[in-house]
Amino acid sequence: MSAEHTCLFCKIIEKQIPAKVVYEDDIAVAFEDVNPQAPVHILVVPRKHIPDIQSMTDADRETIGHLFWIAAKLAAEMGLTNRGYRTVINNGPDAGQTVFHIHMHLLSGRTFSWPPG
Ligand code: AMP
Ligand code: ZN
Repeated sequence: MSAEHTCLFCKIIEKQIPAKVVYEDDIAVAFEDVNPQAPVHILVVPRKHIPDIQSMTDADRETIGHLFWIAAKLAAEMGLTNRGYRTVINNGPDAGQTVFHIHMHLLSGRTFSWPPG
């Protein structure tokens, strides 16, 4: 079975598994994280199954850039722009990636420390 058929986020994108979708277009879907780490915790996920950053092809550059566009749009709509927000892509085991379908975390609503844990 291909990675796309077993991938949790592919199943959410295809509406086989429920999620609280807050935005979607032809390139990406944004939904609430099931285990939020902040008052706002949204995952912005490309429809294309790209496992991680190093799996990107030249053709994926606009797709990945589009994730930032969605994060900025959602943050503006939620009134988060002035206060700020954090965007995170965990890439690989040491970074804490658990779902190998690339995704951007959009976190806001509290103060975040640096360096991250
Ligand atoms: P990462 O650890 O960076 O790969 O992020 C994976 C994220 O997916 C975690 O923050 C999980 O809480 C989240 N997650 C796992 N399962 C689901 C689900 N069914 N719906 C929404 N978010 C999920
Ligand atoms: Zn996938």
